[in-house]
Amino acid sequence: MTLDSLKPYERYFVPEIPRTPTGRYASIILLRETKSYAIFTTEGGEQQDVEEVPAGLSRTELVTRLVMFKRKQVAPERRTGKALLRQYGVFPFALKDGRVVYGEEALKEKNPVQDCYLTAGLCTRCPDCLIYGYAAVEGEGARKARLMTDSCFSVRPYELVQRHIKFNVIDEAAYTSGTITEYDYTIPGVFLPAVETTVDLTADEFAYVLGNILHTTRYGKEGSRQGFVRNHILAIAFSDVELFANLEFAQAFYDAFLDAGMDLAVQGLTLADFRQHADAVIGRLTDDLPGRLTLVTGEGLEKILTDVRALYRDEDRLSHFLRDLNTQAATFSP
Ligand SMILES: [Zn+2]
Repeated sequence: MTLDSLKPYERYFVPEIPRTPTGRYASIILLRETKSYAIFTTEGGEQQDVEEVPAGLSRTELVTRLVMFKRKQVAPERRTGKALLRQYGVFPFALKDGRVVYGEEALKEKNPVQDCYLTAGLCTRCPDCLIYGYAAVEGEGARKARLMTDSCFSVRPYELVQRHIKFNVIDEAAYTSGTITEYDYTIPGVFLPAVETTVDLTADEFAYVLGNILHTTRYGKEGSRQGFVRNHILAIAFSDVELFANLEFAQAFYDAFLDAGMDLAVQGLTLADFRQHADAVIGRLTDDLPGRLTLVTGEGLEKILTDVRALYRDEDRLSHFLRDLNTQAATFSP
């Protein structure tokens, strides 16, 4: 195990990548906060993705909320992780007499893994493929992800977190003003509560997933219009059941803010508002959990986050960590 701060929780992880599920859940409970204008649409969509849902858990009137689909959350984090694997020389690698070899040595073997990319070029051997899963690849079958999440929703209704912005596109050559285009943007300072639940990860795989979440800052419509999003980790939870849906998380925050007398129509929300209510909200959502739960917040959580940041700041340690992680993945036989 690479991180000392995860040692107290060792029994909640698997010692090695398992062949069959053992139901060890480790959930990363977080807030996604837009720090710039962003556009959340499915491919080709002009309008942002919205859904009409009950406002709170106790308040059942319907509101329209901004949606960030599952793929829009996980794909950028996978790309972040893969870029790091490439940067630290994990590719190319190959199996040689049951061990994993890298670089020049790997290229001498037959069928070295040269790269791994979404979605057509998944290698089926690297940590990303083994953690986040892959659809059927010829000769390899499919692998179910050991990470689960679902769409997350803004806490405030859509009309309060969105703005139409018109652009007058100037034609540089002719010095004329060209077409006026209008985009539907999510404004900065919008919070989307989310949980990423990992299942049966080793402690090192968990550190890798956490690192990807902390590292990833660009989400939304692909290309130049991706927005800056900051992920704030509120808690880590170890359990033997899934905790709650992202929609329930947004609804419970909505209830908490209204119970505290806030008027969300006139008042924007801050990170401090969320932090103030987070423990009570998570408590409410897990009170009736039909399983065991160990919640890590405060100092314990800070220790883990500090540990992950330190690992990712130390080039030598990170390089060893990523190679070890890859060696474990590449030598796994299903
Ligand atoms: Zn791969």
